Amino acid sequence: MVSRVIPVECFDLVIFGGTGDLARRKILPGLFRRFLAGQMPENARVIGAARSEMEDADYRQMVREAVAEFGGTEKENGSQLDAFLERLHYVAIDATGDGGWDKLAGLMRDGVIRAFYFSVGPSLFGALAERLHQHGIADAASRIVVEKPFGHDLASAQELNATLAAHFDEHQIYRIDHYLGKETVQNLMAVRFGNVLFEPLWNSHYIDHIQITVAETVGVGGRGSYYDKSGAMRDMVQNHLMQLLCLIAMEPPSIYDADTVRDEKLKVIRALQPVEPHQIVRGQYDASSEGPSYREDAENPRSFTESFVAMKCHIANWRWAKVPFYLRTGKRMKARSSEIAVVFKDLGHTIFEGDTARHRNILSIRLQPNEGMDLQVTIKEPGPGGMRLVDVPLDMTFADALGADQEAPDAYERLIMDVIRGNQTLFMRGDEVEAAWAWTDPIIKGWEARNDVPKLYEVGSAGPDDALMLMHRDGRRWREIKG
Ligand code: NAP
Repeated sequence: MVSRVIPVECFDLVIFGGTGDLARRKILPGLFRRFLAGQMPENARVIGAARSEMEDADYRQMVREAVAEFGGTEKENGSQLDAFLERLHYVAIDATGDGGWDKLAGLMRDGVIRAFYFSVGPSLFGALAERLHQHGIADAASRIVVEKPFGHDLASAQELNATLAAHFDEHQIYRIDHYLGKETVQNLMAVRFGNVLFEPLWNSHYIDHIQITVAETVGVGGRGSYYDKSGAMRDMVQNHLMQLLCLIAMEPPSIYDADTVRDEKLKVIRALQPVEPHQIVRGQYDASSEGPSYREDAENPRSFTESFVAMKCHIANWRWAKVPFYLRTGKRMKARSSEIAVVFKDLGHTIFEGDTARHRNILSIRLQPNEGMDLQVTIKEPGPGGMRLVDVPLDMTFADALGADQEAPDAYERLIMDVIRGNQTLFMRGDEVEAAWAWTDPIIKGWEARNDVPKLYEVGSAGPDDALMLMHRDGRRWREIKG
């Protein structure tokens, strides 16, 4: 199958923080892949900006090295890489100072899309937005891309939204949650709303519960000082897990359009019921033969920050009445695995004599390691000896089903191209982010008020025992975390 590349208009993309980790690891190698895919129009340019003094040639060398280190198979593509690097420029700018802005203004061209990627800490967003306007660099058609974390609570998110709104309209602001750029996440909408099979069953009459797991094997590593002030609730649940929850639980939008989809997601967040303390488990990894503890990694021997959260929540609407959503995420767990599992109800009655096993249909949507879906169905075990039933997966691993040349673009690549196209569907709207904080804030404040101590779990495990109990108490089990 031949992949279809939809061309985008010519652009000038400025990456503030263009020498940083995110730019080197994700944004620039991703842009190179889009270049190879023929999606970067002739004359499109990328301009790196940061405080360090360097020439275009130094910047190009830095990007060459970044592609060699973080690129995928495409990094071998030498002559193409040279052609890509020709499109790159660099300007030394301090977001909070005055130097460099005139040079940047001089580089920008009329008649092409102007996009500004704020790949810097959020404390610089206001200064950047203000200076882009002061120097006449941003216009009404320009777009800005902002990275997580978008605030650390409701008040700071509101403040950040107000800061950006002082200079840009909402339709110009692209708040990135790279989970939304994953192929499988978008497929979730295709499966739900593009098939006759699922939507009629997508409710409390047929679904027993839904589990969302995002398990990582990495620890806090070099991000210890940032992470220790954040924790899993702010770093993962408030954004990534809630976005997944919204997509799985939202009502069908009347059309596939940015605001219609985001309206439906917002309704889900607003319908989330408050979570009681007994419905949530916080954990922190403890040393095991597989590695050091969280406190050692974070270099904070007295830290009570959680590296794991498991919770049960409810959405108060007709579709999801009494259907629990179990969310779980953690670091240093037994495998790297992200999955949404829609667990359907048991059959009310079996006609097969002697079949005492519990058979259930489960739709599993895997985000990592290998994106795909499988649907667990019950069939007859092959061979003689009567009707013995067995559960087997109908596997839809996308790479297998669609052919090797359909290797999905990385989430960042897709999202950057959506910015150039002006498509905000896969970006969080300001009100969504605020609603998500409004729901998570009381949980975090409750922990702080109670001096809550996270339960320890061993590096390489599935999290604290209390998290298992969260489901056992309801007569249910977490799905196995498999890499
Ligand atoms: P980083 O490695 O610390 O890089 C920061 C970048 O900003 C550097 O290019 C730095 O270059 C530049 N910078 C710092 N202060 C500046 C100033 N006053 N004016 C202009 N440029 C300035 O950070 P990062 O990991 O790339 O993260 C960037 C943003 O993305 C952060 O908000 C982070 O939370 C978010 N994020 C990162 C990741 C990731 O995987 N790294 C993932 C998700 C979100 P100079 O020092 O030369 O100025």
